[in-house]
Amino acid sequence: MTQATAPKISFVSLGCPKALVDSERIITRLRAEGYELARKHDGADLVIVNTCGFLDSAKQESLSAIGQAMAENGKVIVTGCMGAEPEQIEQAYPDVLSITGPQQYESVLDAVHRAKPPLHDPHLDLIPPQGVKLTPRHYAYLKISEGCNNRCTFCIIPKLRGDLVSRPAAEVLREAEKLVAAGVKELMVISQDTSAYGVDLKYAASVWKEREVRAKFLDLARELGELGAWVRLQYVYPYPHVDEVIGLMTKGKVLPYLDIPFQHAAPEVLKAMRRPAAQDRTLARIKAWREQCPDLTLRSTFIVGFPGETASDFAYLLDWLDEAEIDRVGCFKYEPVAGATSNALADPVPGEVKLERWNALMARQQKISARRLKRKVGTRQQVIIDEVGPTVAKGRSKADAPEIDGAVYLSSRRPLKVGEIVTAKIERADAYDLHGSVAGF
Ligand code: SF4
Repeated sequence: MTQATAPKISFVSLGCPKALVDSERIITRLRAEGYELARKHDGADLVIVNTCGFLDSAKQESLSAIGQAMAENGKVIVTGCMGAEPEQIEQAYPDVLSITGPQQYESVLDAVHRAKPPLHDPHLDLIPPQGVKLTPRHYAYLKISEGCNNRCTFCIIPKLRGDLVSRPAAEVLREAEKLVAAGVKELMVISQDTSAYGVDLKYAASVWKEREVRAKFLDLARELGELGAWVRLQYVYPYPHVDEVIGLMTKGKVLPYLDIPFQHAAPEVLKAMRRPAAQDRTLARIKAWREQCPDLTLRSTFIVGFPGETASDFAYLLDWLDEAEIDRVGCFKYEPVAGATSNALADPVPGEVKLERWNALMARQQKISARRLKRKVGTRQQVIIDEVGPTVAKGRSKADAPEIDGAVYLSSRRPLKVGEIVTAKIERADAYDLHGSVAGF
């Protein structure tokens, strides 16, 4: 008797790391049920497209990914942020099999079951104990909550994903421990607002290793720091309680790195954006953090050309950047997003002014970044290896998050392995990257 072959699914994952975590969860469930992943749309039984709907440009990218899947396969299930507003997708591609919003894992699985039922006897052992990761094996994203309680005027994520829902600390720690046991060396802690973790649970404790761990930013970071992996905190806001976590950084328990999406510095713009924790004490707070932990690296993103941003607001932002010495910066030109309340704000900034400001901010930041990196020349840094080439390996120091920050390029007398952590002597710096050689294993 011939054995039925496992149904094959081609998966496209678009959008931010948070969407990637959703994709990983869906794939993990599908693998558990005996589905296999296909490399190409052509020949797969189905295609799932996890879309991003954050900006209009991301929506376009999502629509074209759906179009490609329709053309090459024809059986397409759409999920993710853009699925929360299905009209545009339905209009462009009326024949997609199903459209669901973000985190609707069950609905995606139902749609898959309807279109291509699983084999009768799924081999549960197909699934590795840590789940399936789309990120390389040596680092993984750890999502600690969904949704957001803030209402920034330019953002539709709370509309798409709802209010904050935190995972109990023990559940997060169990997942983290499994990842580390499976070889993950670096955990990226993510959520829409990491520092708000647990507010919705009233910080309720859960039992982990026979002790109670509260669902609190500090408590979770402390426990994660005991697992023996690099722990990187992303999407944190400068609330006063973040000060406490700096102590864990100086003790080497979590990486001396904070990704804080400030978005702006000028008080009027921050007010119009309705940003959380936007008090004028931020500069003083950064200064105090750096005094306590001189190795601290700060990464941030900014929006230029927000409605009502005046020339003096922008000048304020540039001066603020100089003073705060933010190490790593991503900058976006403001773009209206369908459904965002900021669309109704007066005084839009013309496109050419946005571009000018964008160029000015990036130029200013390049100088800051170069200055900060130069201070590392001559030091020794631990570097995690991401890619190995014939003569030079590419890695990251504790100051570099994967995919968004700079890199460390290393020569070595012996071949290096991906995921290995080595000690490097830094010999040279440019505007964004470091260069050096391996000084210890
Ligand atoms: S903090 Fe603001 S920008 Fe971030 S997800 Fe929440 S509402 Fe959106």
